[in-house]
Amino acid sequence: MIIKFDNQETQIKEKLLNYLRNEKALFKEIVFPQYQVINLLSRDDNLKENVKRNFSSLKIFNKDGYLLVSRKFQNEDTVIELSEGLTIGDSFQIIAGPCSVEDEKTMDTIAKALKKLNIKVLRGGTYKPRTSPYDFQGLEEEGLKRLSAVKEKDNLLVVSEILDHNLIDLYNQHVDIFQVGARNMQNYALLKALAKKVSKPIILKRAANATIYEWLMSAEYLMLGGNIKIILCERGLKTISEETRNTLDLSAVLALKKLTHLPVIVDPSHGSGRSDMIAGLSLASFVVGASGVMIEVHPNPAQATSDGFQAISLSALEELVLKINKLKRCL
Ligand code: PEP
Ligand code: MN
Repeated sequence: MIIKFDNQETQIKEKLLNYLRNEKALFKEIVFPQYQVINLLSRDDNLKENVKRNFSSLKIFNKDGYLLVSRKFQNEDTVIELSEGLTIGDSFQIIAGPCSVEDEKTMDTIAKALKKLNIKVLRGGTYKPRTSPYDFQGLEEEGLKRLSAVKEKDNLLVVSEILDHNLIDLYNQHVDIFQVGARNMQNYALLKALAKKVSKPIILKRAANATIYEWLMSAEYLMLGGNIKIILCERGLKTISEETRNTLDLSAVLALKKLTHLPVIVDPSHGSGRSDMIAGLSLASFVVGASGVMIEVHPNPAQATSDGFQAISLSALEELVLKINKLKRCL
């Protein structure tokens, strides 16, 4: 049983807490900026019935399927403040950067290009989840430090994927937004640890074989652990398509808008694996109502240390931003 309180409902919340303590019930309090939640963990049906009867004015929900992330629990869109004056969930944000953090000069060139285009968030992989152990594994801590340096110098927010819960404190020192990659969407130990220790926004990518239900259940882990700043990211599914690395499921964006209050962004780079499809898929993402896109870019994609084939050049990014701005004026 989950009980939701508006922030003004302090008296009745205290009354219920006293009752639960007297009954020696097991429960957990979760505090969000907009409201508070009690997660009643005791399985005692009598206790639950008594709560329902004695506190009939409360908003009580059953725990079937995902709940906290659903529109049933919160109808209004969640708008996440990324930094002062910069939000996601109520406007279209572009996140761009290399697949993996590159050398200083390349990072500097990318950061300058983003600034010129008024893009506020830089992505860059540091500890990379590569299919082959022989492939470049990322610059690791050095990469995080490099992101921090770019952030200081160019006043950008930075996002990087975390693979290991032991690195949460290190990431907290360097990134503004955490990323959970497709391969770790169902790494529940990682999700629980992040929910417990991280108050910054978390991008939760969809696993290549995950249903929307499974994806939202993973988001539920984060929210139940106390972090509501979740940004869902559609990044394509494994299908029979042989023309693309993955098949971008843009209908998922439309489905999610009905099911969840959380913002949804799209990654057309991993979603297609093809630089020539990034612009079209980004525009399509805007049209279906995504809250943004996360794109791999590189000054010289052929030279990128990873995923260059699905990165666009900085001039192609500029063209895309112009098109998105045009589209914004039309819709
Ligand atoms: C990435 O964004 O760098 C990445 C590895 O993506 P995904 O988890 O979607 O494969
Ligand atoms: Mn990549």
